[in-house]
Amino acid sequence: MKKTVTDIDVSGARCLVRVDFNVPFEPGTTTISDDSRIRAALPTINYLRERGARVILATHVGRPKGIDDALRVAPMAQRLSELIESPVTVAPDSIGEETQQLAAALGPGDVLFLENTRFHLEDEKNDPDHSAALASLADIFVNDAFGSAHRAHASTEGVAHILPAVAGFLLDKEIRMLGSILESPRRPLATLMGGAKVGDKMAVMERLIETSDMLIVGGGMAAAFLEARGLRTGKSLLEDDGPQMAARIESAAKARGIQLLIPTDVVVATELSAEAEASVVSTDAIPADAMLLDIGPATRDAYARALRLCQTILWNGPMGVFEFEQFAAGTRAIGETLAQHARAGATVIVGGGSTAEAVDSLGLADAMTHVSTGGGAALEFLEGRTLPGIAALQDTN
Ligand code: ADP
Ligand code: MG
Repeated sequence: MKKTVTDIDVSGARCLVRVDFNVPFEPGTTTISDDSRIRAALPTINYLRERGARVILATHVGRPKGIDDALRVAPMAQRLSELIESPVTVAPDSIGEETQQLAAALGPGDVLFLENTRFHLEDEKNDPDHSAALASLADIFVNDAFGSAHRAHASTEGVAHILPAVAGFLLDKEIRMLGSILESPRRPLATLMGGAKVGDKMAVMERLIETSDMLIVGGGMAAAFLEARGLRTGKSLLEDDGPQMAARIESAAKARGIQLLIPTDVVVATELSAEAEASVVSTDAIPADAMLLDIGPATRDAYARALRLCQTILWNGPMGVFEFEQFAAGTRAIGETLAQHARAGATVIVGGGSTAEAVDSLGLADAMTHVSTGGGAALEFLEGRTLPGIAALQDTN
């Protein structure tokens, strides 16, 4: 177990808090389209402020190669200021003389927001001098950036070796929620996988087969599983080694005696566009010029029935191309089933950037037990890998 902000005396302390405010914007604007990552960090920020800590926030935004005016933190600082109903000062840089002075001038409960950490390439390089410069701003390091915890950067990992380092509430919750899937899930446990490609999720599926009672597959990756069983999937998205990977997963599932569900019907179209004409076909009759873009109604029902038998469900990856209405029904139906099931007491954990986005846009996020804020980080965690940003934090005894 990792120490959290409640295991250390934060009163009056300068706390450097690494958050993940790498939020989506409306295209071409500085309007934040989804502030859930900012809201997710509020418990930690509020806790620290209530105890008179001086809060110094750090985040990366995008992937700048040096200073990039389009990737400044000002819009996030502004939104945060609205949410905490208190001023937030924006520093001109993440390190340096002027930033030092602003950090030193903070009063109890004040908030300083450092400029985009990745304006310094040394952040990603985990440069020791850069870590030291960041550390010199504060007395304590708090990591609440689960979405960046799989990266060993100066602001996520390097600094944690210099200052006393603890987890924020969000990071702690992510570790406990995702950890419960690997360690002691209420059974039966279903892993529900979707999304575009089987290759992206291969490692996590192999790990989760070891602990799940059921593996359910939808999304684009279903094509690989269908092909592996000798069915033809037309023009569907298919990686070269997809069927081979799917066959490996299927035999691992068989060897463990766990149930593997794949679609029996799918929604297809001859092109992927907003105007595309959708139709439902059985998976043994996918036309050669069609691609599968969602699970079909019979599959939706079968999956919903199977999921309702499970006490714990991990859902990673949409069931179809939910971005287009005619291919959104599978993701919507499964999302609604899981939300209802969670309200009735089941544990439903949602991971993956697109899946979280889908659940959020359906207004179902609050019903779920947990919606992970980490895309890649959640996958690596569930693969059983050590995340450097977590490993570097202090252990409880
Ligand atoms: P997550 O971010 O939740 O982990 P992925 O990144 O693996 O999910 O996949 C999300 C993408 O998969 C979405 O953009 C969605 O449109 C796409 N997708 C889902 N089903 C299909 C399909 N049948 N064919 C092609 N793409 C699909
Ligand atoms: Mg994704």
